[in-house]
Amino acid sequence: MAKSTVEDIEVKGKRTLLRVDFNVPLDKDTGAITDDSRIRAALPTITYLMEHGARVILCSHLGRPKGKVVEDLRMAPIASRLSELIGLPVGTTGDCIGEEVDKKARDLEDGEILMLENLRFHPEEEANDADFAKKLAELADLYVNDAFGTAHRAHASTVGVARHLPAVAGFLMARELEVMGRLLHEPERPFACLMGGAKVSDKIGLLQSMLTRGDMVLIGGGMAATFLKAQGYEVGRSLVEEDRLSLAGELLRKAEAQQVAIWLPIDAVVAEEIKAGAPTRVVPITGVPSHGQIVDIGPDSVELFQSKLAGCRTVMWNGPMGINEIPEFARGTRSLVSFLAATEATTVIGGGSSAEGVHDMGLTDRMTHVSTGGGASLRFLEGAVLPGVDVLLDKE
Ligand code: ADP
Ligand code: MG
Repeated sequence: MAKSTVEDIEVKGKRTLLRVDFNVPLDKDTGAITDDSRIRAALPTITYLMEHGARVILCSHLGRPKGKVVEDLRMAPIASRLSELIGLPVGTTGDCIGEEVDKKARDLEDGEILMLENLRFHPEEEANDADFAKKLAELADLYVNDAFGTAHRAHASTVGVARHLPAVAGFLMARELEVMGRLLHEPERPFACLMGGAKVSDKIGLLQSMLTRGDMVLIGGGMAATFLKAQGYEVGRSLVEEDRLSLAGELLRKAEAQQVAIWLPIDAVVAEEIKAGAPTRVVPITGVPSHGQIVDIGPDSVELFQSKLAGCRTVMWNGPMGINEIPEFARGTRSLVSFLAATEATTVIGGGSSAEGVHDMGLTDRMTHVSTGGGASLRFLEGAVLPGVDVLLDKE
């Protein structure tokens, strides 16, 4: 069921508590914002609300202050960056609840904007404390959630507040739900899922979901080694989850029974050390040396994966094909990202490292959708109902 958005509700004159995900990366020496894309991603909702006369009360978490005030994690620098971006003043507060906040929220005029202090300075936020949620809700007449990235967490600002206020989605949230919802329920076929990343255990839910919804699954990254080993290949010192070997075998059999093709790498880049500049070698998958570790998929696998993906109308990608933090081990991932950027198919990218890889290559705009929520997108694509989405009003 689609969710109501800011466009479905009267916002003029309404004090609107807008939950955003402004958990931006900060330089650890200077505290400067190193990437403001999360702020930019919320601008359509913020400007819509301001232009339609809402009185906007923004709230977000930043970093992991663990329920205490951490000076380096105050929201003020985020508010000033937002102010630069919209060309208007953005007020700030010393806390996210309390007298000062109540007063500033009451004094807001139509079209004005206020940013509350870091929600996670209070342990009650992550605990979804009912009292804390009520205090937050009392600041406003209306609640908008545009923080897809935290929608898989039941926190006071994502779930608790919605018990007290009409709750709708912002544009970013709505777009995430629309694109990924279509992927889950009515993908254009053939529909392929390209998976990688470190561990099978992180991606079991996604794999199972894709085995019932997809037409094929292509597996690279660290998790491929567990599947390869389950098939009897020697994988040397590659990352293998011994306790998932039988599950990997089971998933391979299940895929066969459901006639979902699973493709694994046919060659690999191996190294003996995981560091930049380490010597590497490309070997067929039958020839991984006992002292080597698979660090990337090889060029033949890239070609195989591309030829399979070329026939698809929808591709979902989650998880790098290799240890992509090290440039020498990132070729497989980079080749496939370039391929996805160029294809006509619908391309949806989920997962933190995967999204980062696409951003780093400057190809975000060439994909149909790059999710802003790492963990949230993973949970959503597993088919889970996200608590922060569940509490929003259904569309009439
Ligand atoms: P995402 O954030 O996109 O969901 P994951 O968090 O699951 O992706 O996985 C990303 C991590 O997987 C990266 O840190 C990368 O180094 C690691 N990885 C990928 N391939 C391998 C490999 N062959 N061996 C070990 N680690 C790998
Ligand atoms: Mg990750």
